[in-house]
Amino acid sequence: MPKNNKGLIYLLIALVMVLILTVVIVSCKNNTRNTNTNGDPSTIVSSDDGGNTEPEPTEGPLTYKEITFLSGGDIMYHRPQIRGAKLGEGNYDFTINMQYIKQLVEKADFATANFETTLSGPKYNYDKKQFPFFNAPDSTVDSIIGAGFDLLFTANNHCYDHGGEGIKRTIDVLNEKGIDHVGTRKDESTKTYKIVDVKGIKIGLINYTLESGSDDSVTRINGNAIANADLPLLDTFNEAKPDPFYVEVEQRYKELREQGADIMIIVLHWGVEYQLEPNNTQKAIAQKLCDIGFDCILASHPHVIQPVRVITSSDGTRKIPCYYSMGNLISNQNRDSLSSGETSGHNAYTENGMLPTLTIRKYSNGETYIKDIEYYATWVHKYGNEKFTIIPLTLALADPNAYGLNNSSTGLERAKKAKEMTAGLCAAGVAEYNALWKDPHPNATAE
Ligand SMILES: [Zn+2]
Repeated sequence: MPKNNKGLIYLLIALVMVLILTVVIVSCKNNTRNTNTNGDPSTIVSSDDGGNTEPEPTEGPLTYKEITFLSGGDIMYHRPQIRGAKLGEGNYDFTINMQYIKQLVEKADFATANFETTLSGPKYNYDKKQFPFFNAPDSTVDSIIGAGFDLLFTANNHCYDHGGEGIKRTIDVLNEKGIDHVGTRKDESTKTYKIVDVKGIKIGLINYTLESGSDDSVTRINGNAIANADLPLLDTFNEAKPDPFYVEVEQRYKELREQGADIMIIVLHWGVEYQLEPNNTQKAIAQKLCDIGFDCILASHPHVIQPVRVITSSDGTRKIPCYYSMGNLISNQNRDSLSSGETSGHNAYTENGMLPTLTIRKYSNGETYIKDIEYYATWVHKYGNEKFTIIPLTLALADPNAYGLNNSSTGLERAKKAKEMTAGLCAAGVAEYNALWKDPHPNATAE
């Protein structure tokens, strides 16, 4: 009957339309993933470039969450700092070091820095001549935790200053006091690298330090030969012969991606001291790490800030930020303690540091990006009887008295100059990276 036939035709048409719609939806989803997996040059960094993190299943419109990840340069303790913090025999208080940056550090969802000393205990003494072998009182860690830091990177050229014993005791103290660490370990039951979960965003962290010397038969850092038994305790690489490093680091990169890392950050201790520009070795290593797939490089060791640069992967599909050197977060290196010959005339630059902050956005389909980056310029103010405090420059210059800049006759003037010096090295690279961001999902809403 005509009426029945008509009904059948409508039913068939409806079925075909449902089928077409299903095909279109599935193909759109695949396109989104493929774009991301292959690395769309119009977007910044795709965490899915490794192709090993399955996007989380989604229903309805996309949402996203954002976190901030803060880092810091070299935290060092020279004798004047230790003397200035001494309250009595064996009793030290370093709280004022970090009191003014606390508000910035605490505000970040996750805060890290390079801990460039050992906690080798009182038997190696603290007040007598140490250099070039560092040892700081355990209470330094209380001020770091008090400021809001969550994790310390421990692979640097000073971590072996008191051998395997120093590495192990340092780890014990960090564990006892309750701060996480990456770069060294007590024994082979744990790893030197890891994923940290920050409010549901998984960040893979790997940390290596440069070796010294060129004798193939022995690995040295800071001139010290590392005993064979201690080699597994710390992550080192040879800048002149980086191939074994590349192999190992790529393995670890893949391992952490397979374990679900949304973002991969490598923290390096490298370069030449007191040089304001990265050398060709650093540039070549940065290129290789970008090509492996890392989303960001944070580095230090030169004791001065080196520029922030955008690195483009060799295939042209990805761009990542590289902080070539974050400078000294705190130390007694300054224009009064160093000779110009020692630092190629860059003494004043050793007073400058920064707190880079990365804003990381993860969409509900699993795509994760470093959406924008910042550097927060800092400067070490030494005043009075060997007192040291880290000055957050933008905040302090707006209210110098509140940040004690008038505690010395030169504080305010030097702080102003420091801000200009750091902006000259970092502002352009940071702006270049941030200009690349193009939201791949403009209709997504914040969770
Ligand atoms: Zn160093």
